[in-house]
Amino acid sequence: MKALSKFCCQNKKCPDYGKRGRNNLTVCGWYGKNNHIRLLYCRTCKKRFSERKGTPLFGLRLADEKMVSLLGHISEGCGVRKTSRLVRVHPDTVTRYTRAAGQHAKALHDELVAFSP
Ligand SMILES: [Zn+2]
Repeated sequence: MKALSKFCCQNKKCPDYGKRGRNNLTVCGWYGKNNHIRLLYCRTCKKRFSERKGTPLFGLRLADEKMVSLLGHISEGCGVRKTSRLVRVHPDTVTRYTRAAGQHAKALHDELVAFSP
């Protein structure tokens, strides 16, 4: 289990977005099959998000909807070229995201869909 100081707010409009160790995060709940994934709450912007949000793909910048759609297509078994055409991103981008997300693509997609504002 990672320390909360390793996480940062995932709300792009929050003044503490992307800043670690600000003491703005608290755990407000648990979810997942074994209740092993923490739901974090940002005191600064009062938003909640999954501790998984942003982790495997942190640093890659695509709009959330695009990423959701991209990973959705991949997890449904669409190939790289088909996905890049459907989501309208470069095939290299699809490869990059797929590699970053790896086996977690499906889970990540579900989480992003469930937790996106
Ligand atoms: Zn925040």
